[in-house]
Amino acid sequence: MTEILMLDRVSWGPPRHRDILKDVSLSVPRGQVVAICGANGAGKSTLLRLIYRFQRPRSGSVMLEGKDIWELSARETARIVAAVLQEQPTDFALSVRQIIALGRLPHRRGWGAAVSSPGLADAAIIDDALARMDLKAMSDRRFSTLSGGERQRVMVARALAQEPRLLVLDEPTNHLDIRHQLELMSLLRGLGLTVLTTLHDLSLAAEFADRVIVLHQGRLLSDGPPDEALSEAHLATAFNVRSRIDRSGSHPRFFFHL
Ligand code: ADP
Ligand code: MG
Repeated sequence: MTEILMLDRVSWGPPRHRDILKDVSLSVPRGQVVAICGANGAGKSTLLRLIYRFQRPRSGSVMLEGKDIWELSARETARIVAAVLQEQPTDFALSVRQIIALGRLPHRRGWGAAVSSPGLADAAIIDDALARMDLKAMSDRRFSTLSGGERQRVMVARALAQEPRLLVLDEPTNHLDIRHQLELMSLLRGLGLTVLTTLHDLSLAAEFADRVIVLHQGRLLSDGPPDEALSEAHLATAFNVRSRIDRSGSHPRFFFHL
C-alpha cells in the first residue's frame, strides 16, 4: 500500500458551529513532501489537527496506512505520526536532551516509563536527533533558556526521535533564521519520510515541496506540483493579492502587490 494518508470528504467544525474545514479529500503517497499554504484562518492548522488525531472529523474519514485513525489508539497513532506544533512548552525544567527523549515514549512499554531512563537504543536515536538538528552543544541546557529558534529545532528533534513514518509540521520555519530555515527544509527533504508541513513562505514551498496544497476558506483550492498549485490565479484567490511569478531561475520568485 503506497498511500500513507487518505482523507475522504473530511469536514470539521467546533460544536454548535458551522464547518470550518469543508469536504477535504486528498491522498498522500509515501515519501512525498507536501506543503500546505493559504491565508491566515484558511484552515491549515485545523487540517493538521485532524491528521495527528487531535480532532475527530465531523464527517468523512482520515485513514492512516489504510486504517481509520479513530480505530487506532493514541499510542498507535504516535508511532506513525509525529507533529511539530506552533505552541511550544515554555515552563519546562527539562533539559534539551530530556525533551527529545519524550519522543521515545510511544515506543516504550507503558506510557509511564521514566523520562530519565531511556535504553541504549533510545540513547543512540536521541543522539542522532540532537546531531541532525545541530543541538549537540546545548543538549544539557534547560529548554526554558533557549531562544525561539533553538526551541523550534528541539521540537523537530523530538519528532525525529519519535521515528515516525509521517511527519506533520505547523509553520516550522517561523522562528528560524534564514540559514536554519534552509537547513530544516533540506533536512525534511532528505529524511525519506512523508512530510506534511504548513508554510507561509511560498518560495520555500515551491523550492522544497513535491506538491503544494492551497487551502481557501476551509476548502482545497488547488493541489498539485508547485508550479500548478501556486499559479497567479490561485494566489489571487487564496491571498486576495495580485502576484507576478518569475519562473526564469531555478526556483520561482514571487512578487505581490495589492
Ligand atoms: P490557519 O492555520 O490556516 O491560519 P486555522 O486552522 O487555525 O487557520 O483556523 C481556521 C479558522 O477556524 C479560523 O477562523 C479559526 O478562528 C477557526 N477555528 C479553529 N479552531 C477553532 C475552534 N476550536 N473553535 C472556533 N473556531 C476555530
Ligand atoms: Mg495555523
